[in-house]
Amino acid sequence: MTRSTHRTFRFPARLSRTGHARLETVLGLLCDLYNAGLEHRVGAYHRQRQSVSYFDQCKQITALRREEPEVSAIDVRVLRSPLNRLNKAFGAFFRRVRNGEKPGFPRYRSKRRYRGFEIDDRPQSVIKRNGNRGRVRIKGLPPIGFKIRRELPELERLQTVRVVRTARRIEVQLVYRIDVPEPIGIEQVRHPVGIDWGVASRLTLSTGETVAARKIDRSATRRLQRKLSRAKRGSNSRRKRRMTLARIWQRARERNRGQLHELARTLVSRFDAIALEDLRILNMVRSARGTKDQPGSNVRAKAGLNRSIHEQSWATLSQLLVEKAERAGRRVDFVAPHHTSQDCSGCGRRVPKKLSVRTHRCDGCGLELDRDLNAARNVSRRAYGSPPGGTEPGAAGEALSIDAERRTNGCKTLEPGDPGSARPVGPQSCTEAA
Ligand SMILES: [Zn+2]
Repeated sequence: MTRSTHRTFRFPARLSRTGHARLETVLGLLCDLYNAGLEHRVGAYHRQRQSVSYFDQCKQITALRREEPEVSAIDVRVLRSPLNRLNKAFGAFFRRVRNGEKPGFPRYRSKRRYRGFEIDDRPQSVIKRNGNRGRVRIKGLPPIGFKIRRELPELERLQTVRVVRTARRIEVQLVYRIDVPEPIGIEQVRHPVGIDWGVASRLTLSTGETVAARKIDRSATRRLQRKLSRAKRGSNSRRKRRMTLARIWQRARERNRGQLHELARTLVSRFDAIALEDLRILNMVRSARGTKDQPGSNVRAKAGLNRSIHEQSWATLSQLLVEKAERAGRRVDFVAPHHTSQDCSGCGRRVPKKLSVRTHRCDGCGLELDRDLNAARNVSRRAYGSPPGGTEPGAAGEALSIDAERRTNGCKTLEPGDPGSARPVGPQSCTEAA
């Protein structure tokens, strides 16, 4: 039995100046449709206690197309996109209500924040290809060109086409369904690793290696933010400053994403099984205990701590690891994070310690090692049994460092000798997406 999964390829798009303007107009129209659809749902509920379905709203689009030539000039699949999105927003809202989470009712969108659309009904029909030149042709939209810089799966496997406006560019995203090998069985695992999520170090591996924390230099953005807030609302200079700031953040996001890709690639090529703490539980466990601390300093204000955790992008990395492992037939296992830093990875005894205590010392077996390394070994042990790399004390002192920054700049290939290093890592891999 073969399994399959989704893979997204992102390409920067090329549009003429008039093409840009037209796309903006269409996105504005889609935003209006989204907001009108939301109003319709809310209104129907308040007036008649009726719920409106996606299909009801699609029928209204058909009616609207008869009256409005501007609307009928656009491919109906594009017009359904905001309704589909709205439908998903409501689905997620009701799911959160059912699960007793904070519901977060779907909100009206501003045009500035309405960034794209997707087509998942016969998406093959909108893609034209000539060698390495691709083109999205959709009725009512300008032609959107893009350069195909990497091999794509065959067209029949295309599931979704997205056109998205980011702060820096227009992007074409092609989502394909691809076959992946079965993951190896747990008894076939030879090179497992456990990973502890951290703030002081971004990651600590059960091998003793660490990945440096992501540090964001906010001095430049702070200055720009101040300038922005001083500019008059609605003024041209305010708009320019806002866009400058958005581009800076976008660039930082892209750089971070590139680094995470590289990091995930390195980990998946070196280890055939990766154990991670389940983030959903982790967030509950750690926030309940108020443990968002940083070593060397006191527990910081909660907002600041949440931010520094957010900056380490654990969730994104976790997602990338799952995807890359899936494609390589390797496995990722999630373990419950309870007491991973308290329990002894040598003998299992519980050694309670405060957050400020950075070293694990066990009276039972005499094990003494870095707190995060002990946690990482527990993670590996929970998933795969005995911890890799032995339990001898002092291993932490020999910590190697995977320097994501260095590897990503210029996208160097992995060191020869690493399993999987035969695969070329070209510069375009940096923009590879989830
Ligand atoms: Zn012990």
